[in-house]
Amino acid sequence: MSWRLTLKIHRWQPGDRAPYYDHFTVEVPEEAYVLDAIEKVWAEQDRSLAFRHACHHASCGSCGLRVNGREKLPCITPVTDYPNGSTIQIDPLRHFPLVRDLVVDMGPFSQAMEAVRFSIIRHASEGVPDARSSEPPILPEEDHEATRFENCLECGLCVSACPIAGSALNYLGPAALAAAERMLVEPRGVDPLAVWEAIDHDDGLWRCHGAFECSAACPSEVDPAAAIMRLRRYGPKVGQVARQQRR
Ligand code: SF4
Repeated sequence: MSWRLTLKIHRWQPGDRAPYYDHFTVEVPEEAYVLDAIEKVWAEQDRSLAFRHACHHASCGSCGLRVNGREKLPCITPVTDYPNGSTIQIDPLRHFPLVRDLVVDMGPFSQAMEAVRFSIIRHASEGVPDARSSEPPILPEEDHEATRFENCLECGLCVSACPIAGSALNYLGPAALAAAERMLVEPRGVDPLAVWEAIDHDDGLWRCHGAFECSAACPSEVDPAAAIMRLRRYGPKVGQVARQQRR
């Protein structure tokens, strides 16, 4: 069975006086995802449409946008989430500089991650799995229960969903704060005091109003809001201990 949708897509490119919407009607298989429908628009109706995508399976985080006002990864959003024959509105993520159509500049996101010293580099002593072995890596007992921050796709959906990020332009944002928590739990050689000092200010940990929209939007179970609440409980103590150790 095929699924017919009209995509009302946000358009803007440098030089345009204001954004506007174009409407495209496509038919895709009912097993298709919203990204497939967008790609069909590009392939068959408008090759000038700018959107970002890569892996098609929620691994790269590059295709993030809003469907009917809600943050989504369209690569894992089934077209059947929307009634057959309906119109869906496709917008770029909020709170990022717009580049063109559905593409935003993720530079501020990367800068926030760098500010909290986020590192994805593992130390050899952490029990890196042997690619030749089918056995799981041997890790310290406490690591078995840890949710590693590499769950984060760096898709930016949490920043777009955050009601604070739009009004506080220097706010670090939910993903960077969740990354900071991971760096404090598992520093991997990074100075914990530097991480704490990067978030212990009005545009960091203390700016969040606890709306939890970030966790609702996150497609990868990072749960940034819970990380922020945990940081508020134990972060000051971690900062205090790190400061004493540095003396
Ligand atoms: S915390 Fe979740 S929503 Fe935010 S960037 Fe990471 S994966 Fe995306």
